[in-house]
Amino acid sequence: MSNPFEIVSVNAIMVLDSRGNPTIEVEVETNDGMGVGIAPAGASRGKREAVDLRDGGKAFGGMGVQKAIESVRKYIAPAIIGMNSFYFREVDRAIIQLDGTPNKSRLGGNATTATSIAVINAAANTAGTPLFEFIGGRRARILPTPMMNIINGGAHAGNELAIQEFMIVPVGADTFFDAIRIAVEVYKQLKNELKTKYGAGAINVGDEGGFAPPMKETREALNALVEAIKSAGYGEGDVMIALDAAASQFFESGDGVYKIDGRVLSPGDLVEYYSGLVDEYPIISIEDPFSEDDPAHFAELRRKVAGKVLIIGDDLTVTRASIISEMISEGAVDGAIIKVNQAGTITEAEEAIEVLHLNNKRAIISHRSGETEDVTIAHLAVGYGTGLIKTGAPARGERTAKYNELLRIEAYLGGEAVYLGKKAFF
Ligand code: PEP
Ligand code: MG
Repeated sequence: MSNPFEIVSVNAIMVLDSRGNPTIEVEVETNDGMGVGIAPAGASRGKREAVDLRDGGKAFGGMGVQKAIESVRKYIAPAIIGMNSFYFREVDRAIIQLDGTPNKSRLGGNATTATSIAVINAAANTAGTPLFEFIGGRRARILPTPMMNIINGGAHAGNELAIQEFMIVPVGADTFFDAIRIAVEVYKQLKNELKTKYGAGAINVGDEGGFAPPMKETREALNALVEAIKSAGYGEGDVMIALDAAASQFFESGDGVYKIDGRVLSPGDLVEYYSGLVDEYPIISIEDPFSEDDPAHFAELRRKVAGKVLIIGDDLTVTRASIISEMISEGAVDGAIIKVNQAGTITEAEEAIEVLHLNNKRAIISHRSGETEDVTIAHLAVGYGTGLIKTGAPARGERTAKYNELLRIEAYLGGEAVYLGKKAFF
């Protein structure tokens, strides 16, 4: 009798991401099921993350993925056909070995990511269980507290805000459904206020569905959020603010300074700058507050805001267990962003989550700025019980796809679903 989980075919095609760039979709068939995975793509990428294989040349501005498709068809498929998808970690390990580089530069991080996601989805489909349950079993029942990026800056928007993401976090909601309702109410209120204050152009959105108003300074964006939260009828017990500075993007490596709000700040000045913000606003976490090469200042800020604000690594930690361990020992982070395509496989992302959880640190499952309709990350958040997800504004199909899947999972779990709100942070 044939094994229902045996991988019998692997194919790849090109599809588009939310920025109109080509990306790779992989379809894996087992004897008794199938799964699909699509690779997302970042704009503000860490230096140490897995790299995508792109075609270069004229077509699609060099962003084509024919080489990545070749990589799946020619190398990955023959290596994993015949393997047992139930043991998805063994399949991922075969891919990791075949690549043999620290950053997936041989096979392409986009090729390995899409394949790894397709394999685990095929395994869950073959088992006849939703992916989150395939991963977490009957224990998986925590819906993540969403960190929703509703003002976009940095590399994700055409404005002058240095800080990349201004997120609202519905910490006081009782259920995930309630969290979405509150977030949508604040998002709509913000839209009205931006339109009144900055004109109709201010409600155009950036890459992650948040507004990209023509603001120049961090405090302008924070004031707009506080105002919108208040006029929607909420306070800091209900909705808090999270920032992703993505500071490597406004770090001038030649001079060792940061350019923000029209000012030039030394790393020490920037510590004081964030401390000021933390005193003035209901901020719950700050991601990548310094350049990815400066864990010492992460640690300094972390000591200063301890107990009040979590310091999170992203470009700093790049979903790699060994780097995360190192950064935890250096006292640089309270948690890290988990992006499957920074690592290149689900198995490596899982190892990163485990290192964090074993050290009582937070794992935040995350989208990329270039996304698709793939909803795997919604299942990872519930399956691994991370309690936290960031996947953009409650708007634009590639972002709402994830929130909608979480609403479905919450409905499926019925009375067993749990929403932790603020407790997911502290
Ligand atoms: C981020 O920096 O956290 C992010 C989601 O952006 P990107 O995908 O551009 O790295
Ligand atoms: Mg980030």
